[in-house]
Amino acid sequence: MPAKELSPIEIYKLLPGTSCKECGETNCMAFAAKLVNREATLEECKPLLEEKYADNFAELWSLLKPAVKAVEVGVGENAITIGGEYVLYRHDFTYFHQPAIAIDVTDEMSDEEFETRIHVLNDFAYNYIGMDLTLDMLNIRCTSGDPQKFAEAVKKADELTRKPLMLVAHNPVVLEAGLEVVGEKRPLIHGATKDNWKEVAELALKYSCPVVAYSPSDLDTLKSIALTLEEYGIKDIALDPGTQPTEYMSVNTDTYTILRWNAINEEEKGLGYPLIGAPMAAWAVEEEDPVLNEWNEAVIAGVLTARFADLLVIHGISGWSLLPQIILRSNLYTDPRKPVSVEPELVIMGTPDENSPVLLTTNFALTYYTVANDIENAKINGYLLVVDSEGMSVESAVAGRKMTAESVAEAIKDFKVEDMVKHRNIIIPGRSARLSGEIQEESGWSVSVGPLDSSGIPSYLSEKWNPYPE
Ligand code: SF4
Repeated sequence: MPAKELSPIEIYKLLPGTSCKECGETNCMAFAAKLVNREATLEECKPLLEEKYADNFAELWSLLKPAVKAVEVGVGENAITIGGEYVLYRHDFTYFHQPAIAIDVTDEMSDEEFETRIHVLNDFAYNYIGMDLTLDMLNIRCTSGDPQKFAEAVKKADELTRKPLMLVAHNPVVLEAGLEVVGEKRPLIHGATKDNWKEVAELALKYSCPVVAYSPSDLDTLKSIALTLEEYGIKDIALDPGTQPTEYMSVNTDTYTILRWNAINEEEKGLGYPLIGAPMAAWAVEEEDPVLNEWNEAVIAGVLTARFADLLVIHGISGWSLLPQIILRSNLYTDPRKPVSVEPELVIMGTPDENSPVLLTTNFALTYYTVANDIENAKINGYLLVVDSEGMSVESAVAGRKMTAESVAEAIKDFKVEDMVKHRNIIIPGRSARLSGEIQEESGWSVSVGPLDSSGIPSYLSEKWNPYPE
């Protein structure tokens, strides 16, 4: 049953019903509501773990489990989860685990290229509206066909990064050579085909590793491999249906959509697993300029992020191609039920004095960081009063009464703005102009209406700012 169709009552009926509060909630119904929203796990209800509730636990687990299995790759604090999704479209509920981005290396690369790629993987970070966006995994491909060479590459990679690994070799002997080096670190192994599935399944069981079922351009065979692996006792599976270069982009969107649609809406057996995408397929096309390969790779990555890959294998390592990918991913995988917000506070910008301007904004993260960056880049000394708008932007907050004259007056008082400046003049965003009179009345401060867009703050201040208007 898709997550959005579950009701707390259905879940409540299967809980112990004693309202003992051990889970931290005041009663079982409150805990049931949290379970339905996936804000709590069954294990937090300790009484439910008792033997007498074993059948209830099993039924609840079955009701609450995601349509796409969550598969963990790596161990300890470096582990990541791929999959674990409940719905096809984010607005139906939310997505939970953003697609991991794996940087590609091979066992035939020069030492310099091999190491450079791993340094990019380790060090790439971009702060976006308060979140540190990073890369996630290393994809180690055997292109030499030589088990010893592959093992050496895996060993070297293991020394250079703590990020989880995907080992790619379709010869089980080569795969095992890599697993002998890092098998205890739970790498994702790629992969089981219709020809080698039994040997690869044996390796997955021996090393307790998740395994990729691989069948390019043949979805029936892909499903058949997954079902066979299941029967063989493999629990953690991912599916790789093969990725096409950009000229066959519609094949990519069709393939990944069919797989995810059938897993979630049809609950089709053998398909409820994370999907592997390989935008690096763009590099198989001979272009005159490799920039075109990287450009095409970024395009495929963008499409597969939206439709519905859970892990992306990327070959290009330029900042201009990686940055849009991680930002798109971050935007798609934020929880639409909870606006991204920052803490309400009075932020000191630069080195203000008692005559410096006081500007107002809301605590929607995107709004806050845009305004703060515009002020910072213009080297303005002043105060930025961040009002709690429940994470809404200025216009929505005013329309939805999440930012009111009362809340602004309260913020001025709570954050002791009067102790910071001698004047009593606050600049409000142009999009909240209609509150100016009310704010003046509630707070006793003069109100100046600033620009509609924060990029206009520097010129507004130089042309119009007067701390002591007549
Ligand atoms: S711990 Fe379990 S039984 Fe106790 S209140 Fe929470 S849900 Fe109910």
